Amino acid sequence: MSSSRNTNRLAKKIRNQTSLTLSTASRLARQANVYLGSSVTDATDPHQRRLEAHLAHVLASGFKDRQLNGALLGVREAKPDAQGLHLTLESEMADEFLRELLPRFDHFYGGVRGVPGLRVRGSNERVVLHDALSAAQVTVTRTDHSRMRLPSARDGEVLLWQRAPGGLSREEGQEAEEWVDSGGSADLRVRDLLLSRILRCPGVVNRTAEPHGFANCYTHHSGDLVIEWCCGDTMETLCANLLAHGIADGLPRRQAIELLSRHSAHLGDRTVILNRHNSCLCGRGAAEIAEYIRKGYES
Ligand SMILES: [Zn+2]
Repeated sequence: MSSSRNTNRLAKKIRNQTSLTLSTASRLARQANVYLGSSVTDATDPHQRRLEAHLAHVLASGFKDRQLNGALLGVREAKPDAQGLHLTLESEMADEFLRELLPRFDHFYGGVRGVPGLRVRGSNERVVLHDALSAAQVTVTRTDHSRMRLPSARDGEVLLWQRAPGGLSREEGQEAEEWVDSGGSADLRVRDLLLSRILRCPGVVNRTAEPHGFANCYTHHSGDLVIEWCCGDTMETLCANLLAHGIADGLPRRQAIELLSRHSAHLGDRTVILNRHNSCLCGRGAAEIAEYIRKGYES
């Protein structure tokens, strides 16, 4: 934040949107260090928000700590467009991004991987990932503007996105139902809103992966997304940056944010879980780890 006036304004916004006291809100606001302009723009269509949330969820559990060049979910830039959302992908992760998302039946895993009902339009440099059952869609391009490569089937895989172009395959149906029925463990409106905002805020969340080129993300169930990292922004700085970009806009106040410690926080009642380690986990090994990840994607 450039001036104390902005800091005060952010502190008041945080106090009004959360159950934090003004002194805690002020402490957070003083730590905000990146402001990219106005608040994140939400998709107006709930199907669009749900699809984006599902993308973020699958990407988090797919990439885990295998990112390159600090792109936490493989995304460098997110811009809302008239049809939905345009994502610019980290070039070195773009092929893997499509592989993680496009649904396939994996006989070794014994189920569907990817986002059920996700289908492909377009080709070459610009791929449109759209939902078979609604108008929701996300357009993806690469930072280097080169050609996108659609995944081919690996051993034991059936590419469901190719087999059933017009609707859901039987295998995808059950998987899709689980995504809209979390068994009461999560507020679906809050989940969709928060996870789609995470996808729409790459400039903020990528700062967790920046120092080493990767961080760690994963999920426990269909209602949460965990981000864990060591160096770079502190947990309170990340929270302050996210709150400055409207991560808590429209959430129930009591659920908005819970600070468990200086290193751990929950957003939206454990929907987004943020953990920062006290000390560095990779030390000087980071470059070697990144090379290992890169080789894995090339094979
Ligand atoms: Zn570190």
